[in-house]
Amino acid sequence: MPAKQTLSSLGEFGFLHRLFPRLRTRSDVLVGPGDDCAVVRRSRRNLLITTDALVEGVHFEREWLTPRQLGRRSLLVNLSDIAAMGGGPTHGVISLGVPPRYRLADLVALHDGIAAVARETGSDIVGGNVTRARQAFVSITLLGEVDRPVLRNGARAGDQLFVSGVLGEAALGVRQLRRGKRRGPAITRYREPQPRLQAGALLAQERMASAMIDVSDGLLQDLRHIVESSGVGAVIDVDALPHAPGLKQLRDADALQLALCGGDDYELLFTVPRRKLARLEKLRPKLGCQVTRIGECTKDGRGIRLRGAGRAVRIAGEGGWDHLVGW
Ligand SMILES: [Mg+2]
Repeated sequence: MPAKQTLSSLGEFGFLHRLFPRLRTRSDVLVGPGDDCAVVRRSRRNLLITTDALVEGVHFEREWLTPRQLGRRSLLVNLSDIAAMGGGPTHGVISLGVPPRYRLADLVALHDGIAAVARETGSDIVGGNVTRARQAFVSITLLGEVDRPVLRNGARAGDQLFVSGVLGEAALGVRQLRRGKRRGPAITRYREPQPRLQAGALLAQERMASAMIDVSDGLLQDLRHIVESSGVGAVIDVDALPHAPGLKQLRDADALQLALCGGDDYELLFTVPRRKLARLEKLRPKLGCQVTRIGECTKDGRGIRLRGAGRAVRIAGEGGWDHLVGW
């Protein structure tokens, strides 16, 4: 393909037809890309549906991600929502918007990034469209399936609070990108989130998690969703938070802010009833990632509190952060 060829020169349909052969097809796909709709044989399991968009200038800047990285990331963040329900991904459709001068080679690379993650995770892209737009965006709707979904509203007082992986690293990556840095572990972590599909599915199958969510907007923000929908409070042991290695070089208050409020981690936050803790220990080696106990759910009406360093701090209001100044 000529290096400078753009979408306008090939047209939407020319572009789409060029992509179709690059997509793999699952055996339950009766009609893939190329008709008015894809047709998928229904499974007897529960259907999960989620959608998420990445918009240039809102979620990312063009210099932060190569087209292929953008493609990968846009599917990875959707996969994280499927993981947070305890399900597995099946099919996806893509809506792409790019400026007319966007190079065709970049568009293909973007698409190949999506297709590669789809292959790696056993999901199929079964359709999509591409349109002109002032800023680039990638919107993916992803389907998945699950026998017994884990919702946000199942946490009870006394349930223990766990998080997978480490916190604050992607937010550190974004901070570095804004300062002009272009590589390093934190930046890689922002570019390539790791949806915890294996852990999510196992926690659901084994009926281990009473509530679960993925941490996309920051630990406190996403914990608030569990707390509010379950009608409980929560206490976080700040000394137990699994900080990313990069955070160790920061001031304590700074590291704590990234770990509590930094977005884009795409880790799982889940609650486990105390009586299941022994079984969780046995499950640990199969989860595919570390999980750390970071606190517990309390009786309703006390909000989210932080416990550590010999004192308790109440978090009040939206992102009520100022309480931690001088920590
Ligand atoms: Mg989510």
